[in-house]
Amino acid sequence: MASQVNGHRSGSDAQGGKSLREDLQEFLGGEALLHELDDLTKVNPVTLETVLRCLQARYAADMFYTSAGCTLVALNPFKPVPQLYSPALMREYHAAPQPQKLRPHIFAVGEQTYRNVQSLIEPVNQSIIVSGESGAGKTWTSRCLMKFYAVVAASPTSLESHKIAERIEQRILNSNPVMEAFGNACTLRNNNSSRFGKFIQLQLNSAQQMTGAAVQTYLLEKTRVTCQASSERNFHIFYQICKGASVDERLQWHLPEGASFSWLPNPERTLEEDCFQVTREAMLHLGIDIPTQNNIFQVLAGLLHLGNIWFADSKDEAQSCQLMDDAKCSIRTSASLLQLPEDPLLETLQIRTIRAGRQQQVFQKPCSRAECDTRRDCLAKLVYARLFDWLVSVINSSICADPDSWTTFIGLLDVYGFESFPNNSLEQLCINYANEKLQQHFVAHYLRAQQEEYAVEGLDWSFVNYQDNQACLDLIEGSPISICSLINEECRLNRPSSAAQLQTRIESALAGSPCLGHNKLSREPSFIVVHYAGPVQYHTAGLVEKNKDPVPPELTRLLQQSQDPLLKVLFPMDPEEKSQEEPSGQSRAPVLTVVSKFKASLEQLLQVLHSTTPHYIRCIKPNSQGQAHTFLQEEVLSQLEACGLVETIHISAAGFPIRIPHQNFVERYELLRRLCTRTSPGSHSPSPDERHSEWSPHTKGATLQPLLQDILHTLPALTQAAATP
Ligand code: ATP
Ligand code: MG
Repeated sequence: MASQVNGHRSGSDAQGGKSLREDLQEFLGGEALLHELDDLTKVNPVTLETVLRCLQARYAADMFYTSAGCTLVALNPFKPVPQLYSPALMREYHAAPQPQKLRPHIFAVGEQTYRNVQSLIEPVNQSIIVSGESGAGKTWTSRCLMKFYAVVAASPTSLESHKIAERIEQRILNSNPVMEAFGNACTLRNNNSSRFGKFIQLQLNSAQQMTGAAVQTYLLEKTRVTCQASSERNFHIFYQICKGASVDERLQWHLPEGASFSWLPNPERTLEEDCFQVTREAMLHLGIDIPTQNNIFQVLAGLLHLGNIWFADSKDEAQSCQLMDDAKCSIRTSASLLQLPEDPLLETLQIRTIRAGRQQQVFQKPCSRAECDTRRDCLAKLVYARLFDWLVSVINSSICADPDSWTTFIGLLDVYGFESFPNNSLEQLCINYANEKLQQHFVAHYLRAQQEEYAVEGLDWSFVNYQDNQACLDLIEGSPISICSLINEECRLNRPSSAAQLQTRIESALAGSPCLGHNKLSREPSFIVVHYAGPVQYHTAGLVEKNKDPVPPELTRLLQQSQDPLLKVLFPMDPEEKSQEEPSGQSRAPVLTVVSKFKASLEQLLQVLHSTTPHYIRCIKPNSQGQAHTFLQEEVLSQLEACGLVETIHISAAGFPIRIPHQNFVERYELLRRLCTRTSPGSHSPSPDERHSEWSPHTKGATLQPLLQDILHTLPALTQAAATP
């Protein structure tokens, strides 16, 4: 059998004389066994083609998980496979002496992290980075892993609060339906697409029991509240309320059966009556009582009615735009559900306040119809985003452990995958930037660090080329000039700037970057970034405005007047609180832009990840229609290319599978070495100097290798000696 651990095989074998089929048959002893190959480092030769065929054979045989060295490849079955996630199977992986020897599975990864956390050899925090494109199965995977830890790391005590006795892990699991109801939506690519990134830290005590968890979320796609692409939908919770509310609740929230809301497209696809009850139950378990729940749903109903407010064009610029006839009822209902005074609500949507001049005098200016619409949308997005953040904080206070009660954690990262649409804007730039950072983390942690370590240790090794994405990151976030800094600069200068001007500025300031491209055929001003996963064209129209994410201060002030208990919490009366000023006159106040906030949260996340031992799960979508038993080679191939899986397999196949910190190694094996030297015929006790050189922290892998072989050779004699009375 081809060597799988220390023999470095080159991908160029693929160009050799034999056909792929012959190669595989020779290795496997027959095509029929292709699906049995559960470790892609054993494929010979390792090429995109062989990896693809192996995955396809496994998919056809209902084998959805395959090892790829340090990465686990997870194919989405797009059908229920209950036996694959049963508690019995979880326990099997947990009880196995070597779970990695069982079939590849997310539970093997879960168990490995669980053992590493408690291991004396490597007692460090762990993280599992789940990646893949939309619909590939990231959220499903993280959910299953959370269930796994809930079983293997169950705490023995019950919590008695909110009149519900339950275990903490049950409460942690309950955070999923709530966060998915408020943060997920049906998109073209996934009926349950997460519209936010999530990092959950599962906290364990010294007895390896889960004592709590903490959730961090990233960049909720709040524009979805007011604007959905054709055939897509708003966040699930809106449909759940409309379908699942009781007759009385409907009356209370002004949601008559069959009512139509312009922010609620495609309601006919709803299957959400039952989901509403699940969401409510889960909220209850998290400590959100029924009156608070009703308050949340009332506010959301208020937003739906807000979406039915439309203005007519004003004939005179000095006059405010008037409401369309059928919007009059909507504004009344919305104001009453949000407990806002009706006239100020209307006025805030129609009239803009401007501060100008040295004295910052206040002027009022009627808004155009488009501006009224923007202000209405801004109000809804503001409320929803604050509500979402508040929910996350409530969940955190319900599941977070006392800092003294936990010692280590396992982090699960489920972030949006790489995105490339016909029209890409700031959202895609942020998402793809996050993916570049995670790829760099992977490259730095695994590919580069491992190879550099081999070179330092003097091991026999031929370098495998991998794609380093530093140039792309320099282009996006580098200092002093990058795409982010230029967009931020435009926000700071607060000057009128067209989309074409922004394109020119980016192209001239960053012309030297190998990752910046230009589409000559594009009619819209745009630029191209060559990401590790492929080139993406970003349109510059609206980029600066989106980055500012301006909230007219009048809107915040209006919401602070609400008599609604929840809105009072979301918008407290705080004289210190300064919302971001709308562009006005000579204001040069520093603005915390979307990009700056995102960059800061990303850096924080990476710091946490760097402090852990990472594990990687790459989810792959076998087809974009979400169909079972359908493996489309082209689609899988592009995903394999995008994540650089073949390079990873090459390095893993050639690399050393076990890496133990030197100090831990010495502590663990010193006794064995002493025994070996005593047992080996003709051996002599090493002098202190010799011992120092054998075990010194500067000992290179190359010098340790023969020593380890000695130990291994002597082991049978040692075992015999130990067995002799
Ligand atoms: P997004 O980035 O849009 O949030 P995602 O990667 O999180 O996508 P999921 O929502 O986890 O994708 O998965 C999409 C759908 O695929 C699920 O709703 C489920 O129907 C199906 N699915 C994923 N993994 C599995 C699995 N292991 N077994 C059965 N079905 C699965
Ligand atoms: Mg998801």
